[in-house]
Amino acid sequence: AVALGADDIETLFGAMARTIIAHAEELTALDQAIGDGDHGVNMKRGFEAVTANLPAIAAKPLPEALKAAGMELVMKVGGASGPLYGTLLMTLGKTLPAAPGRGDVAAALAAAIDAVKARGKSETGQKTMLDVLAPVQAAVARGEDLATIRAIAAEAAAATVPMRATRGRASFLGERSVGHMDPGARSSQLLVEAVCDAIGD
Ligand code: ADP
Ligand code: MG
Ligand code: MG
Repeated sequence: AVALGADDIETLFGAMARTIIAHAEELTALDQAIGDGDHGVNMKRGFEAVTANLPAIAAKPLPEALKAAGMELVMKVGGASGPLYGTLLMTLGKTLPAAPGRGDVAAALAAAIDAVKARGKSETGQKTMLDVLAPVQAAVARGEDLATIRAIAAEAAAATVPMRATRGRASFLGERSVGHMDPGARSSQLLVEAVCDAIGD
């Protein structure tokens, strides 16, 4: 494993920010169906802040860069997703070494998902971002290639459509939450794809 340089870190967070900003309207539309219609706006605001601070973030070693980006999300995204994505990135920063190998990534993702569950008092199967993050972590731990990881993220986001939400605002809708993709599951899929793009080939 080789330490990620400033260019790699800039590529990584740049790819994440670009896809979230490009899909903001879609994320908001998903949240209009089963939430309060702000997920795209929230995430866009957070990743615009990451973009604005990208040179400073990328100048740090990977663990500190992840913590700094996580702090931006906590401060700027708001809503339920801000503290949850912030916790995800900050825990990755606490857990990953500066030069991570595949096993380090699997272990750090497991720790970060546990931290999100603790923060959200949530589990998989409740129609949230966890329903994408958990199968992606399992795929990384099994050593799947990037194409398989992307496919698993896409399938996992699609699999939230028939689920009934039992956490987050969508849970207020009960049975009426069925038939719509969870917005946080979709944003997690987009972030996973961006990471695959950034580290691919
Ligand atoms: P809010 O619901 O406060 O407006 P957002 O719209 O930005 O926040 O984010 C909603 C997304 O956050 C949901 O689609 C879901 O994926 C995720 N989410 C909400 N509550 C939880 C929770 N307790 N645990 C895990 N994920 C959650
Ligand atoms: Mg919302
Ligand atoms: Mg809201």
